[in-house]
Amino acid sequence: MADSAAPTPMMAQYLALKAEAGDSLLFYRMGDFFELFFDDAKAAAACLDIALTARGEHEGEKVPMCGVPVHAATAYLQRLIKAGHRVAIAEQTESPDAARKARGSKALVNRAIVRFVTAGTLTEEALLDARADNWCVAIGEAGGEVAVAAADISSGLFQIVHTDAGGLGAELARLAAAEVVAAETSAFAEAATSLRPRADFATEAGEARLKRLFGVATLDGFGEIGRAGLAAAGGLVAYLEHAARGDLPFLRPPTVTRAAGTMAIDAATRESLELCQAQGGGRRGSLLDATDRTVTGAGARLLAADIGAPLMDRGTIDARLDLVAFFHDDAGARERLRATLRALPDIGRALGRLAAGRGGPRDLAQLRDGLDGAWQLGERLSAIGRTAVDPGPKLLADLAPDLRGHGGLIDLLRRALVAQPPVDASDGGFIAAGYDVALDDLRDAGAGGRRAIAALEAELREQTGIATLKIRHNGVLGYHVEVPARAADPLMKAESGFTHRQTMAGAVRFTTPQLHDVATRVTQAGAHAQAAEAAHLEDLIAAALAPRDAIARTADAIARLDVAAALAERAAEGGWTRPRLVERPCFEIEGGRHPVVEAAVAKSGDRFVANDCRLSDASRLWLVTGPNMGGKSTFLRQNAIIAVLAQAGSFVPATTATLGLVDRLFSRVGASDNLARGRSTFMVEMVETAAILAQATANSFVILDEVGRGTSTYDGLAIAWAVVEAIHEVNRCRCLFATHYHELTRLAERLDALSLHHVRAREWKGELVLLHEVAAGPADRSYGIAVAKLAGMPPAALSRAKAILSRLEAGRQKTGGLAAGLDDLPLFAAAAEAEVAECDAIRAAVETIDVDALTPREALDTLYRLKALA
Ligand code: ADP
Repeated sequence: MADSAAPTPMMAQYLALKAEAGDSLLFYRMGDFFELFFDDAKAAAACLDIALTARGEHEGEKVPMCGVPVHAATAYLQRLIKAGHRVAIAEQTESPDAARKARGSKALVNRAIVRFVTAGTLTEEALLDARADNWCVAIGEAGGEVAVAAADISSGLFQIVHTDAGGLGAELARLAAAEVVAAETSAFAEAATSLRPRADFATEAGEARLKRLFGVATLDGFGEIGRAGLAAAGGLVAYLEHAARGDLPFLRPPTVTRAAGTMAIDAATRESLELCQAQGGGRRGSLLDATDRTVTGAGARLLAADIGAPLMDRGTIDARLDLVAFFHDDAGARERLRATLRALPDIGRALGRLAAGRGGPRDLAQLRDGLDGAWQLGERLSAIGRTAVDPGPKLLADLAPDLRGHGGLIDLLRRALVAQPPVDASDGGFIAAGYDVALDDLRDAGAGGRRAIAALEAELREQTGIATLKIRHNGVLGYHVEVPARAADPLMKAESGFTHRQTMAGAVRFTTPQLHDVATRVTQAGAHAQAAEAAHLEDLIAAALAPRDAIARTADAIARLDVAAALAERAAEGGWTRPRLVERPCFEIEGGRHPVVEAAVAKSGDRFVANDCRLSDASRLWLVTGPNMGGKSTFLRQNAIIAVLAQAGSFVPATTATLGLVDRLFSRVGASDNLARGRSTFMVEMVETAAILAQATANSFVILDEVGRGTSTYDGLAIAWAVVEAIHEVNRCRCLFATHYHELTRLAERLDALSLHHVRAREWKGELVLLHEVAAGPADRSYGIAVAKLAGMPPAALSRAKAILSRLEAGRQKTGGLAAGLDDLPLFAAAAEAEVAECDAIRAAVETIDVDALTPREALDTLYRLKALA
């Protein structure tokens, strides 16, 4: 950049922009490149694997630099964003010509940051996953309440969810946000990827910002937004405005909810059940992946949202189930719908790009085709309601009007646009012939001019006798005549009528007065035509954006239909059944299956064994024992998954299913299972288990898989024992508890709602056969050594293990085993009561002390007395 110590004007400009960009990488536009300097250059070069060079000096050091071509910037941006960077785009805001005219020949072109590209503020098709929502989330708090506001600006989705500090984790886990914004120095700074000024999260400012965004005088129409909700939404909108450099984002009116409207599922549970992501990361192997048969991007996004946030309202769940049932029973209607949907463009995201000012002719065409397809769909679907004796599902009738709107817009776009317009408007050619007579004339003039040029070329060849003479066009010279260098001499003469323009290595370029005339005609017509097209584009975009909320509703309706038909397809494919949701906290599953394990088992040519599960008031807690690999985890998880699917409005993998709504779902896996992944420790296991004991209600559903095994045998058994007691006595929720601590089965005698079950296994001709069948009663014995054999442990080690085992078992018989002495342990509630009584006695003693009246001697005596009470 500069050689001297004082920064050059360009360096000064760069540094000012960089200061504005903060921790974002600065893409500094220079001609056809975005350049990066200093540490930005080093980071980008490493991430993008491009060459790091140097340019000039700054403060005596060479300035590291790298660059990416503007035309390929999207691909590079994608990689930087994926790697967790943010990028500030500094564009040239005037042409070099304009700069020279205004400020002299050495003038520096003005530049400004026009946009921050961050993971949560993307709209570009190439940067987004078509099948996943892209949430930008802000956390706000006020008056002890916490709320999250979430926006997907690629489709305008906007939601405000009120929760509390305890529920925040579950909300963030549900959204799996690309970006989380919080106020500087707030309690949520740690959860955030971006910190913004506290003032952005003030409730009054938030309210004002929302009113301005939606152009309303009151927010009452949106439902009850609490103060924390205003803080979160205000902080979010402020951040989005900042990222877009002052442009207001396209957001639809928010859906405002309390977290209690959905099943609370915390991050650990989502991870262990692999709801939307498998444990290795990615979608493959997740429940979502095993369920998703949607055919549109919007449908896939909605299904992910549904599975991530199962509902608590039976009416809404049943309305969804009615629609799934309808398409389940009518395979023909389902197939036709899916065929139509498959061909529809993603109108939600096309609209998002247009609204963000990054849309073009291709997006308008997508709207045209998408809305047209939706209209036809609406016609067909409303016919279903009219002709059948049965009026059809209510949800269908509700959706149909949303599909059929926009007739005027479809018509306008049809007349205005060519069938397949280009993505980029700058070359023109997207306005259809016949839409604008003046434009047609300009195009005719242009075409006439191009024909005239072709004729002129032929004429000049004849006139000069140079058969290889060509008329060409480029950005610098415009139209010109080109001949090979060896033939150029005669044309150099003044009387030839040719004017020399440029000499190249093998060719010489000329112009002629005639060519100049025609060329001017062509160029002018072209420029006018382009201007006319640009003006039309602006009008068309305005026309498309005017009803944008209604268009977004159409996109929603399409997505809802896709999800319903896809779930019906999945149910038909896998023999799933419609769940029945009831008011009492029961859980009765016949023939339940785990869709992911079932697919894996089928792949290896085996049959998945379906299992029943019956939890009721009288039998709330099932203790499941049995050999490793016997199918305990699978059984636990399949039941949790059935609850998720049912409340998401899906059929479930079972023969019959009746369940009471689950308000909170918890799944925990003993630490040693996770240790292989090198992530979880016993501490994490205990923190997560503690959360269950603190949060589970009588309507919750808990699965605990080998909890307590991440520590020594005694500790582990003691903890597992206490957890089972607490869940049974205090939380009183539905619970499946898998354990290899056989000793726990003794609890059945003392806890009336606990029942014993086991996964069956048999030894047959010295081989262990795992039946994967859940049966009543405790496991008759442990099969650890048989499992070790199955796993290929060498015979010598096996027989040694057998010998040790028989010694241990003999010892156990003599002493009463690991749980000896537990039988006369007071019950959990009694023990807790004793503890409370003890605390009360101490408190009473403390309350009688008059500290000021005590002598030092008496104080010491009092301390001894208190110690004796503890
Ligand atoms: P555990 O928790 O008892 O160790 P898992 O539930 O992890 O056992 O199951 C181990 C393996 O057994 C699974 O990966 C699967 O291949 C098979 N399996 C589990 N349940 C079934 C079932 N119901 N039917 C068929 N195979 C099953």
